[in-house]
Order: sequence, then structure tokens, then C-alpha cells
Amino acid sequence: KMKVRFAPSPTGPFHIGGARSALFNWLLARKEGGTFLLRIEDTDLARSTRESEENIKAALKWLGMDWDEGIDVGGDNGPYRQTERLDIYKEVTQRLLDEGKAYRCYCSEEELEAERQAQLDRGETPKYNGHCSHLTDEQIAAYDKEGRKHTIRLRVPLNQTFAFDDMVRGHVSFESNGVGDFVIVKSDGIPVYNYAVVIDDHTMGITHVIRAEEHLSNTPRQIAIYNALGWDVPTFGHISLILGKDYKKMSKRHGATSVDQYRQLGYLPDAIDNFLALLGWAPEGEQELFTKDELIQNFSMDRVAKNPAVFDIDKLNWINFNYMKNLSDEALYELCLPHLQEAGYASATPDETEKAKLIMLCVCLKDHISFGAQIKEEAKLIFDDTFAFDETHAEDIKAVLAEESCPTVLKAFREAIADLEDITPDVVKATIKGIMKETKLKGKFVFMPIRIATTGQMHGPDLNYIITLFGKEKTLARLDETIS
Ligand code: GLU
Repeated sequence: KMKVRFAPSPTGPFHIGGARSALFNWLLARKEGGTFLLRIEDTDLARSTRESEENIKAALKWLGMDWDEGIDVGGDNGPYRQTERLDIYKEVTQRLLDEGKAYRCYCSEEELEAERQAQLDRGETPKYNGHCSHLTDEQIAAYDKEGRKHTIRLRVPLNQTFAFDDMVRGHVSFESNGVGDFVIVKSDGIPVYNYAVVIDDHTMGITHVIRAEEHLSNTPRQIAIYNALGWDVPTFGHISLILGKDYKKMSKRHGATSVDQYRQLGYLPDAIDNFLALLGWAPEGEQELFTKDELIQNFSMDRVAKNPAVFDIDKLNWINFNYMKNLSDEALYELCLPHLQEAGYASATPDETEKAKLIMLCVCLKDHISFGAQIKEEAKLIFDDTFAFDETHAEDIKAVLAEESCPTVLKAFREAIADLEDITPDVVKATIKGIMKETKLKGKFVFMPIRIATTGQMHGPDLNYIITLFGKEKTLARLDETIS
């Protein structure tokens, strides 16, 4: 049975690339009826924080990726936080030492650095020179007596080829001679990533390791460890890098890079999942919008591309726009409210009247925004008190206002609005229709002058809603300004 895992290091904001790795594993597990496990790789003591761990777990939950085994939910192979597994690593290390497959290395940082420099000067690719690989018990005792610290290195056999069939990259092979005996346990007793990851993946029964391409160069070291321990190597799949539109590695320069940022900007989790799935996975056919179930049904590693995925924010916006279309008015309001509050357009706790008005606002602007935060910009039309004609259409606007029928239309509209008790989109619509009938003018000769006189623009959201949201006072004031 397939068992996959996501094994983040809680060292900072949860990157969109991490979410993509998690998603591919999750989709595969759900498709194959397998297990999705979540493990926290916190052996980098200086950089790991609980805050980051909480953030990652919250983001996975928000994105709908539930895990069957692992941190918080438990299972038979815990604990699931690496710093709580040190005893397990110690036992394995003792075995490697006993079998002579690993050894203590007493070389100091300075000695290693000097050797590295010397190798570079000779034009060699630096690797450990094996100084401590055959220390006698007496030498070890002497170093210990001196109080020297030691690391533990794996003995890497020479003249071997580490080969594996990667689910994405196909056949991959590395020569062992370039690797050198590398450190598996640091002098503080903490295992390095390559070591802990192997022990965990093995003891947790992981069958498939799907992770970012940046780990491809770690894989030979991990295979060396599997071999030393006599353990079966899992199936690997290294998924391509995510690049910005300029084909440079995705970074802050390209905009938001963390899941949190997208949540805060008012993107929808299902839209993000849909978008992330398409970062590297190319389904058959033209379909681009997939429900979660469709993603699960259609996902396959066979169609995960080797070449880098390009992060196209316009595509994410298009996907999110489409998901927003399906939201209920209430859900749309919930999504936009924090942004309206931030802009000062909504109070901290709107009452029913205000809420009804804000819902109308959100519905009115829905077709003009791709994610929640964009409503701030669009809502200026309704809330900003400054009024100006749109300069980019100055000529057209002038022409509309110069039409012979314009003053008649605006005056008729002004009178009708002034007489109204209660303004609603339906009432505004009926009013405009009434003027059309009375004046025998075609639609555009009626609503264009009104739109321009009230908003200063040729185009925009539904006029009936805009007038309703403006209310009587503001509508009359704008009309008066243009009429005079
Ligand atoms: N802790 C590693 C990371 O966050 C996991 C790598 C792996 O999946 O093996 O990059």
C-alpha cells in the first residue's frame, strides 16, 4: 500500500513550493487509497520554531490537506517531530559504528577548512580526506581525553554507482567517488537532514518520496545510508523548480511567495490547490478548472513534467476569479470584509443594515475583482468622495455630455431620485426605463449620461447598484455638480 509523506522544516513562512510538494503527495495518497503522513523536520535547531510549525499545519488544513498519520494526529511510528526522535537515531548510529560503517571524526572546523582549501588549490573537488577513518582505540581515547569534539561520518564505498529510477526524472545515477565520507551526526549529537530523513522514511514505512528538485543532489547520500543499513530504497520523485515569469527562481521579487500571504490577500484555498496542481502537472486535455475530486481522480505522476514550472500570477487570478463566481453572497462578503475594513469602508462589526449594503457592494463589484483584496481599489468608486471625469476617455465623455438630450435626461433622473423614499437597484432600473419611455431615447442615451454624471466614467459595475449604494444624497450631489 502506498505511503507518502510531507516533511517540512519549520524554519520560516510556508512557501508556495512547499504547499505544491504537499499537494502532490496528498493527491497521490488520496488517489491510490494510500496514507499521507506529516512529519516535522526540526533538526536545524537555530532556525526551527514552533510558530512556523503551527503556521504550516494551519496552512495545510486551510488548503484541505488532511493527514492520516503524523504530528498531532498520531500513529504507530511516532514521535513525528525529529527532535523527539533522537533516541531512535542514536540506536541506528550505534549499529553503524559497531558494524564499522560509520566512524567518529575528530577533525576540527579549522583543520577541515585548511584541507578543503588545499584540495581546491590543487584543483580538486573538495571531499573529506579520510583522516579519521581508521583511528585506533588508543587514538580515539587520546582525542576524548583532550576534550576534542567529534562528529560521526558514514563510510562511503568507492567506485560505486548510486542509481535510481525517479518518477519524474527517469533514470538517475551518481558516482560514489565524488561523495566522500560525509557527516551524519553533528558534534552536538544532532543528526543531519540526510541521515534523519532516511531513518524516518524507513521506520515510518514510506514507499514513495515526492519532493522538490533541490533535494535531488541529496539523494545519492541518502541512498548510501540506505545501503549501509541494508534497507530498501523507496521510490523517489523529484518535482521541478518553480520559476517566476522571467524564468528566474521564484522569490519575493515575484510577489507573494507564502501561503499565508495568499490567504491574507483573499484567495480561496480550492483555487490555490487547483493552481498548484497545475504547477508541474499537466492533465490530458484542455481543462484547467478542477474540483478537488477531479484533481484526485486525474492526478498522476506520469504527467508531472521534468522542466521547471512557471508561476503565472495571471493564471492564479483567473482561476480564483472563477472560484469566486461560485461563492454565495454571504461567503463573498466574508472574503471581502477584512479588506473593506482595512480600507475604512466597513466598521469592525457591521450591523444588519450595513451588512446588507456591503453584500450589495460585493455582489456589484464581483465581476471586477480576482481576489478579496482587490475590492479595496474597486470600492473607491463607491466610497471616495473625490469626483473627476476619467481622463483616459475625456473626448468620449465630452461627446456624451454634449448630446442635446443630456440635460433633459439628467434633470429627469434628478427629479425622480429626489422623489424616491427608498432606493433599490430595481427602483433605479424602473426609473431609467421610465425616462427612456418618456423621452423616447435609446438606452445608451439615458444611462451613459447618468453613469458619467455620477461616476465620472464610461464603464463600470451595474449602474443600478452604484446608484443604490451611493444613496440619494450623494447621487443628487453628483448630478447637481454635472448639471450646473
Ligand atoms: N525537510 C526537508 C525540507 O523541508 C524535506 C525534504 C524531503 O522531503 O526529504 O526541504
